[in-house]
Amino acid sequence: MGAVTADIAAFILARLAEEERDARAACQEPWSMPWPGEPFLAIGEFAGAILTPEGLGVVDPPEVQHMVRQQPAATLARVVALRGLMGLHRTTSGPGVPESGYNATVCDACGPHEPGDDGWKLEGIDVWDPVMYPCPTIRHVAAIWRDHEDYDEERWKP
Ligand SMILES: [Zn+2]
Repeated sequence: MGAVTADIAAFILARLAEEERDARAACQEPWSMPWPGEPFLAIGEFAGAILTPEGLGVVDPPEVQHMVRQQPAATLARVVALRGLMGLHRTTSGPGVPESGYNATVCDACGPHEPGDDGWKLEGIDVWDPVMYPCPTIRHVAAIWRDHEDYDEERWKP
């Protein structure tokens, strides 16, 4: 795989692009369990037994049901939803708190804006409660791929 990705947003967007690519390459027809309770899976017009990774036999119906839930259309819907979330929880560089000289980079969705307010809370340090980027929401999204070699657990762990 590639070099370590430093930016959490770039990391997440790269993983979503990979999942979208794979989902689009797969059969787009609905996947189903044609015989509920049996270890078979139908993908489009094809149906057959599913082998375990070791090729030792068919998987049980709960695993097949799980595969059916992961069909391409479901993956693409998740990709769209997570990209929408990424568009809301993004980096905003603000003026910070003048008293401290602190120049914060905060999440645009989590803080420090008042609901419906386009300005910054600069009326006093007591109202300054920024949520730094990456916010907890973005950290949780990145943790979906916590086993990826580019995931930076030390910096991004929720
Ligand atoms: Zn946020």
